[in-house]
Amino acid sequence: MSRLVVVGAGITGLTAAWAWHRERPDDEVVVLEAGDRVGGKLGRVRLAGTWYDTGAEAVLARVPDAVALMAELGLPTVVPATTSAAVELPTGRHRLPAGTLLGVPTSSDGLDGVLSPDGVARVRAEASLQPLQFPADPAEDRTVGGLLRERLGDEVVDRLVEPLLGGVYAGQADRLSVRATMPALAAQLPRHGTVLAAAAAARDAGARSREAAAGTPDGPVFVTLPDGVAGLPHALAAALPEGAVRLRTPASSLRRVAAGFELEVGAGREVLTADAVLVAVPAGKAARLLAGVAPGAVEPLEGIPYASMAVVAMAFPGQELAAGSGLLVPPVTGRLVKGVTVSSQKWPHLSGDGLLRVRSSVGRYLEEEQLQRTDADLTAAVVAEVADLLGLSRPEPVETHLVRWGGGLPQYLAGHLGRVAAVRAAVADVPGLAVAGAAYDGVGVPACIGSARRAAARLTATLT
Ligand SMILES: Cc1cc2nc3c(=O)[nH]c(=O)nc-3n(C[C@H](O)[C@H](O)[C@H](O)COP(=O)(O)OP(=O)(O)OC[C@H]3O[C@@H](n4cnc5c(N)ncnc54)[C@H](O)[C@@H]3O)c2cc1C
Repeated sequence: MSRLVVVGAGITGLTAAWAWHRERPDDEVVVLEAGDRVGGKLGRVRLAGTWYDTGAEAVLARVPDAVALMAELGLPTVVPATTSAAVELPTGRHRLPAGTLLGVPTSSDGLDGVLSPDGVARVRAEASLQPLQFPADPAEDRTVGGLLRERLGDEVVDRLVEPLLGGVYAGQADRLSVRATMPALAAQLPRHGTVLAAAAAARDAGARSREAAAGTPDGPVFVTLPDGVAGLPHALAAALPEGAVRLRTPASSLRRVAAGFELEVGAGREVLTADAVLVAVPAGKAARLLAGVAPGAVEPLEGIPYASMAVVAMAFPGQELAAGSGLLVPPVTGRLVKGVTVSSQKWPHLSGDGLLRVRSSVGRYLEEEQLQRTDADLTAAVVAEVADLLGLSRPEPVETHLVRWGGGLPQYLAGHLGRVAAVRAAVADVPGLAVAGAAYDGVGVPACIGSARRAAARLTATLT
């Protein structure tokens, strides 16, 4: 019998603990959590009587890991009633054009209106530029903004890509890595003379692989759970042996000893021994824990910055609203909020009681000054802006909640994959040690779940 200690009870740590427990039920699994609840960035509040996500609110179904985990745990899923979102621009409101890859168009069709006539002409003109020379060497990277501004013009970045990247990473296109944030596109870029052709090839390759996996390319894009995405970590914790998750128990140090590892945990600095350790915490905290056992991981981990944000959950009296799941609001609008999700139109389980449930977020990487406002002030400003954007006839909310996410989302800046490879190389030198989570292989919940399963499999392999 062995003991696995997982540091961090976010979706990553809990999934790894669950995978290990299924594989080796006789082992002891301990999940250390600094906070007073499980879930990390999966959080929820009771909003006008129902569970309402204030962290992740939807998981991609096309990356199968989250849906597969939900099925494994016997959890029923909810699919959106609509995913049709619009983008708010200084020139007006537009439907998002279909068939883009995180906002990168695959042709100039369908861009009229969202882009100006000059902007559309600029996209069309890519074919007449020098053929694209994107390096095949994975060590060479570019920023999304740098590449796309050069090939397709500023409007594609500012009006299409920025709002989508802003939603997923709370980051800026001019700093984020093409290879890390758009891997499917990056894989095609060296093979094609234009970004448009590479984006079309990436889209087609994705559809083919989904079809091969599921027999159809067109299942639901997103799902959630009836009690919110934040219900998933609770279900995982409940599926682990009693007492496996220890709340309010931060790990403060990690060292190697002859028989494995020792961790100092909790306020009393209790010493816990482990045969294997998985560090599933944000990069800065992982750097501090790994300093003594994998010093080569510290510098690359410290090179992964985080964006902070705040989410305001609001319930308004029922009222007529334009159809759709919500709005993306890019920085070119000069608005406070980054987006508005009309949850009671998007999710059928949030629509039954006549209330309008909406969430909206504020804060991007290096654009966090608005987060200095007091809770009351920030909430009032977000409510007013949402009421304006949605054209609410009854703009007084019946309930609001403000949730702050300090260090909410890691920034995959240009060169991110190199940093991750350096962390992994340093950790691989230490048998029985692994890292996983949002800092490495994708920030989305399915990516974190995949990262957790791979880490658990690597660790169980070293023990057997
Ligand atoms: C506002 C917001 C909205 C999002 N929306 C979506 C979405 O709609 N869909 C989607 O797929 N993804 C979304 N994401 C991203 C996704 O939720 C996260 O990337 C993911 O949940 C991160 O999981 P994790 O387990 O890797 O890390 P975390 O959730 O950060 O978990 C790490 C845990 O470790 C604990 N910890 C830290 N230090 C220690 C220590 N020393 N000892 C013990 N415990 C420690 C923390 O308290 C935390 O509980 C969103 C993120 C945010 C912030």
